[in-house]
Amino acid sequence: MATHQRIVDDSYKTPIQTHLNYKDKTAVVTGGARGIGLALARQVAELGGNVAVLDYLSQPDDEFDELEKTFGIKARFYQTDVTKKESLEQSFAEVVAEFGRIDGCVTAAGIVYDAPFLGDSWENVIRAQMVNVVGTYFSAQLAARQMEAQGTGGSIVMIASICAHQTLPTQHVSSYSASKGAVKSLGHALAVELGPKNIRVNTISPGYIYTAMIEGVMERFPSLAALMRDDPPLGRIGNRADIKGAVAYYLSDASSYVTGNDILVTGGLHVGR
Ligand code: NDP
Repeated sequence: MATHQRIVDDSYKTPIQTHLNYKDKTAVVTGGARGIGLALARQVAELGGNVAVLDYLSQPDDEFDELEKTFGIKARFYQTDVTKKESLEQSFAEVVAEFGRIDGCVTAAGIVYDAPFLGDSWENVIRAQMVNVVGTYFSAQLAARQMEAQGTGGSIVMIASICAHQTLPTQHVSSYSASKGAVKSLGHALAVELGPKNIRVNTISPGYIYTAMIEGVMERFPSLAALMRDDPPLGRIGNRADIKGAVAYYLSDASSYVTGNDILVTGGLHVGR
């Protein structure tokens, strides 16, 4: 017969499907008009949530238009430059006017370029830091301000990169790596600062995920294309479906006690190749 004290706690009996339900909630996804961001916007819709996509492009990919019809949610697109204060603030204000609330924010807007460190330019470096760091910073700030005003808490998910952890010797991505390291550290700092408001902040560090961004890298560096396919212990390049689970977990109550965390979605590349 058990002699230990029995604790009274039935919280663990709530099914994971209940925690994952995002119905009546709204998430903002920056860079969500295509690529990884679009896949993550779709993930929000699949969970039953409304989604507001902010992106530099004038038009999102056609798949965006399917979201409302397919999932019975509200999906809106706001042409936004995340590096421009007025543009970002206006889009967040329009999101709040349209949806009435923000429960989640996923920052996927980002750029990469290749340049050897010794030949890199001020223009390149400043542009990359503006999009990847400053744009992420103020997107998170605007989302957190709204979450604080609502008093509901929320979840912020920022897309960093394996480059925040390691760089392959064949790559020339010093300024991109610096920017993604900053995003990862920002996640730690915001988790501490926003935790008392029940706003959770986490990052995802993808390895190589097949999108237009990576296709461009493969075209410029054919030798890297083979490495991207063969190097990960799982033996393949990632695809956008591989990222979706991490965002579903972070955005929803499935990760209600998780903040300041980084999930590496790399096919194992970060532990060995
Ligand atoms: P894509 O280039 O396919 O998509 C990025 C999106 O961000 C584009 O729609 C782009 O618009 C948008 N964007 C760029 N600049 C701005 C801006 N100033 N304001 C608003 N939107 C902007 O890239 P991925 O989907 O591959 O990458 C998404 C995120 O994941 C990025 O942060 C990237 O660094 C990160 N990542 C990607 C990896 C991969 O293997 N694909 C690996 C690790 C991290 P536009 O096309 O008009 O510039």
